[in-house]
Amino acid sequence: MNEEVIHYILVRSRRKTFSLSVNGDGSVVVRAPNTAKKAETDAFVERHLGWIAARREVLSSAQLDLSDGAAAAVFGRSYTIATGRPRFAGGTVFLPTENRALAFAALLKRTARKQMAALTAEYALRFGFVYAGVRITSARGRWGSCNAKGAIAYSFRTAFLSEKQARYIVVHELCHTRHLDHSAAFWSEVGAILPDYAQTRRSLRKASVVMNWL
Ligand SMILES: [Zn+2]
Repeated sequence: MNEEVIHYILVRSRRKTFSLSVNGDGSVVVRAPNTAKKAETDAFVERHLGWIAARREVLSSAQLDLSDGAAAAVFGRSYTIATGRPRFAGGTVFLPTENRALAFAALLKRTARKQMAALTAEYALRFGFVYAGVRITSARGRWGSCNAKGAIAYSFRTAFLSEKQARYIVVHELCHTRHLDHSAAFWSEVGAILPDYAQTRRSLRKASVVMNWL
């Protein structure tokens, strides 16, 4: 029973307690007291396997890989990345050899403009909202905004969201054309259109890692 529960790097010191961390490459580091026995260290790691798995998942989704063969989801649709003249073609997104991030951002801006403008028009028509227009920005701090004149702006990084999340952003901003605050009246308006919006809104917190992309 001396087998390691999981491979980990052990760092001993004069500390009194155990601690655990996961590096960017997924490797696990355990800091342990000098006196700790291997069985104790293993038991500590075993108790935290769930935490390690969750941490690894967060770390792997926290980076955008633009190399050939990598996968990228755009409005919930999965694409494989390949080298070529920048464009979407079927299930492939082509990016040039150089300045890949810049080229991808440009593609996403175009896609977001089309998709977010279409969704905004769709909900405005269905629920009688009046708005002044849709603009796409490179904002990192927020998914969308709406000013007193009803001009709506969306971050092009909404392209990294699922369609459900994108629809919530659209409804949120359209409801600001009637309520410029986040009052109870505002949320009841959102809830009347998207009854399960609270869950979608929570899921956006996890999605905010994409704000660091491109
Ligand atoms: Zn708002």
